[in-house]
Amino acid sequence: MAELIDGKSVAEDVVRRVKTLTAELAEKGGQQPGLAVVIVGEDPASQVYVASKSRTAKECGFHSVQHTLPAETSEPDLLKIIGQLNADPAINGILVQLPLPGHIDAGKIIQTIAPEKDVDGFHFINVGKLGTGELETAFVPCTPAGSMLLIERVRGKDLSGLNAVVVGRSNIVGKPMANLLLAANCTVTIAHSRTRDLPALARTADILVAAVGRPEMVRGDWVKPGATVIDVGINRIAAPEKGEGKTRLVGDVAYADAATTAGAITPVPGGVGPMTIAMLMANTLASAYLAAGLKRPSF
Ligand code: NAP
Repeated sequence: MAELIDGKSVAEDVVRRVKTLTAELAEKGGQQPGLAVVIVGEDPASQVYVASKSRTAKECGFHSVQHTLPAETSEPDLLKIIGQLNADPAINGILVQLPLPGHIDAGKIIQTIAPEKDVDGFHFINVGKLGTGELETAFVPCTPAGSMLLIERVRGKDLSGLNAVVVGRSNIVGKPMANLLLAANCTVTIAHSRTRDLPALARTADILVAAVGRPEMVRGDWVKPGATVIDVGINRIAAPEKGEGKTRLVGDVAYADAATTAGAITPVPGGVGPMTIAMLMANTLASAYLAAGLKRPSF
């Protein structure tokens, strides 16, 4: 059976280290890292994510600010708030919770965030830095950054000679994940909905990352023996065995099946999920270190 990659425990390590480095920053004369989270509307899932981000920020010792705005907030009003946060020296990281209501252009809002405060890593400047290997100053999107830490726990930092297949090409997960693996010297293939014979391609992967959004699509016989399997997917499916109307979370990988072939694998929940918030804290800390003229800590 494959080694289980415990994302919850790695995420706790990251948060502990952020807390320590926050205290060290104060000793070096730097300011308390500040994270502003902006949410527009009452989407229940987004409310849960935002509350959890604000809670973890406080746990890290950050100055934590939350702007909860009504769904009918206009685009100019939201742009004004972003402008104020960009100019506020107490804020190092700005996160706008997605999705935004339909009348607001999310792309425009994201590109208005100052790149040095873009802790989600979605601004074109940060996308460009990651794409060109400027990793010292780039903010990398939190989910692929967290997935990379999990891969490093199993395989080390230098992945030279390994084949990686990333299934999914979104700007939030698939593409930045592929760039991180490339920067670590993997030979990288990005697969998507138009890829031919995906199972055969997946079987070439020493590192297989699934970021698709299709419950348990990746089967055990898609996995090369000994491969490291990172399951980014979070899918809620019906669970009649738990009672009428009940549901459960599954990944994009058929866990029990894949775990018989893989060398190491992330579970869902408890794998990549907890890493996303932890890396948001790491990015905000990095922004505060850079703002103080210090080298960003590595994780
Ligand atoms: P997305 O934007 O919907 O992208 C999905 C990708 O999967 C697309 O590139 C799509 O290809 C590809 N795809 C769809 N069906 C496929 C198929 N049958 N075969 C091969 N490729 C296929 O999704 P995302 O935002 O990247 O998220 C992916 C998953 O990760 C979701 O389950 C999401 O909930 C989860 N997620 C988790 C976290 C976390 O914190 N753990 C964070 C973000 C996302 P095309 O480009 O050709 O359409």
